[in-house]
Amino acid sequence: MSFLDGLEQSAHFTAASGEAGTGPTVEGETDLRILIVEDEPTLGNQLRNTLEQNGYAVDLSTDGEDGHYLGSSEDYDAVILDLGLPEIDGLTVLGMWRREGRNFPVLVLTARDSWSDKVAGLDAGADDYLAKPFQTEELIARLRALIRRASGNTSSELTAGDVRLDTRSGRVTLAGAPVKLTAQEYKLLSYLMHHKGKVVSRTELIEHIYDQDFDRDSNTIEVFVTRIRKKLGADVITTIRGLGYSLDDPADQPRG
Ligand code: CA
Repeated sequence: MSFLDGLEQSAHFTAASGEAGTGPTVEGETDLRILIVEDEPTLGNQLRNTLEQNGYAVDLSTDGEDGHYLGSSEDYDAVILDLGLPEIDGLTVLGMWRREGRNFPVLVLTARDSWSDKVAGLDAGADDYLAKPFQTEELIARLRALIRRASGNTSSELTAGDVRLDTRSGRVTLAGAPVKLTAQEYKLLSYLMHHKGKVVSRTELIEHIYDQDFDRDSNTIEVFVTRIRKKLGADVITTIRGLGYSLDDPADQPRG
């Protein structure tokens, strides 16, 4: 039961307390941002709490109209979408997102184990589905698999040169030696490693690292980048002037 290993692992990074820009302590391994659209308050809140305890930044929406708006205007690493929703039903919301080019993975929740719901959901662009009632452990395991698939990673370990990051355990090593990162440093590094070789803007980093309520100060990103460079090497993250940052694998770069 590999997902249980992940859930029970304690974090190997230290959440810095009292530092500027430090959010709640991250107990899990992730840095990722999830939207839940679910109109049952008990289930929605329970899902949110569980995912937050696993280190995800979570937004919860309770109707289709608001949920659609958030999914269209914010960046999420994955969406958990109930089908039976007030205002706009889940299938319609999903179809709208896909027509708008929103390609985040979507896990659909169906009210029962219904084949017609499943087929309709997959036709509308869902990546996976789960029938209620379900175990939250299963939901988290599926969510993790969806995100990993979407980012093209089949293993829980991300690498760039001598840097290795295990998304399951939260462990980071440099040439095999463990490196301690604060929660925010870990989130930032993990996001860049999930998007290795691409330029990531400060705004995107802020959106993925903090949930909606966080005070979004882009200067804190520069501080975190500086600290990561001190710990992992000056060339691990490249500043792309005016655009943001990129993390490249030295093996993919031309020499010289
Ligand atoms: Ca519902």
